[in-house]
Amino acid sequence: MKTDFNINNLIRENIKSLKPYSSARDEYKDASISEMIFLDANENPFENGVNRYPDPQQNDVKDLLAEIKNVSKENILLGNGSDEVLDLIFRAFCEPKEDNIITLPPTYGMYNVLANVNDIAIKEVLLSEDFQPKVDKILKEADANSKILFLCSPNNPTGNSFTEKSVEKLLKKFKGLVVIDEAYIDFSDKESWLKKINKYPNLIITQTLSKAFGLAGIRLGICYASKEIIKVLNTIKPPYNINELTQQRAIERLQQIDEIKNEVAQLISERNRLKKELEGCDGYIEKVYPSDGNFLLLKVDDANKRYQQLIDYGVVIRNRTNQPLCENCIRVSVGICEENQRLLRALKAIK
Ligand SMILES: *Cc1c(COP(=O)(O)O)cnc(C)c1O
Repeated sequence: MKTDFNINNLIRENIKSLKPYSSARDEYKDASISEMIFLDANENPFENGVNRYPDPQQNDVKDLLAEIKNVSKENILLGNGSDEVLDLIFRAFCEPKEDNIITLPPTYGMYNVLANVNDIAIKEVLLSEDFQPKVDKILKEADANSKILFLCSPNNPTGNSFTEKSVEKLLKKFKGLVVIDEAYIDFSDKESWLKKINKYPNLIITQTLSKAFGLAGIRLGICYASKEIIKVLNTIKPPYNINELTQQRAIERLQQIDEIKNEVAQLISERNRLKKELEGCDGYIEKVYPSDGNFLLLKVDDANKRYQQLIDYGVVIRNRTNQPLCENCIRVSVGICEENQRLLRALKAIK
């Protein structure tokens, strides 16, 4: 247990005194009573399926998620993609021009983008050669204004997960919030940190329906944290941030958990097959990194050249050569079997 922690010391002053905007649907929630009529929100009364404002608290989506992920509903906040969730965290806790965040390149680009948008300084502490956090260096780099440490695990683009020991030490010793981005957790055999949200009051976990759940198009990101943190984020989120169509599609999908598990199992099996095949190719593929995600990072002889050659074969991958520690690396997403075959054929054909 982390005992010396008080969330109030991290919240921005202007946010502390905020009252959440109360929307019409917040004030009267029990829309299930059928004889009620709703003349409170200036909606168009002619029914077309989406003429009403959506549930601002997304209760049905959260009920399903709470059950699937075995957490309490009060520990969940939903956003318009992880992007919005991350932006809300910045706006609640980071004072522009004063505070800073710590990121661990090579990693997901959005943390730095959002820091720049919010005018928050960035301290970068490179991962080690084997893509693990340099724990002591991170703690040394942190100062009184270091509000957030971003840990992406499994990490994009490297594919590996951070060791339990490193994450645990950072959770214990870092004085700000630790955000663990678990966008790829469902492809990993490592355990999620979700079980620890009640043990570490400074822990925030983000997940998404964009990857394993196959719903990148509806934009639904998930934040799990202590009730206190969720409450702060709730006061600043736009009231109707998750639209009705998104909520409906999320509910449909979350009710088909067997289908999701089946797809994830197929993708893991394809990932492992692809890795083995790529390792068997002799020639310009120098290394295939281990992956806990639905993608593989490869080191090649000349990433720019290979990227262009693959484009000429109609295969679009991601060139990561300009990322630190990723010189001549490319990242490939795992597709369906036929797509992976086409990738393999292209990789074997190019000289
Ligand atoms: C893909 C990805 C996300 C997902 O972002 P959404 O806005 O939810 O689609 C989040 N974090 C990482 C590291 C990712 O690679």
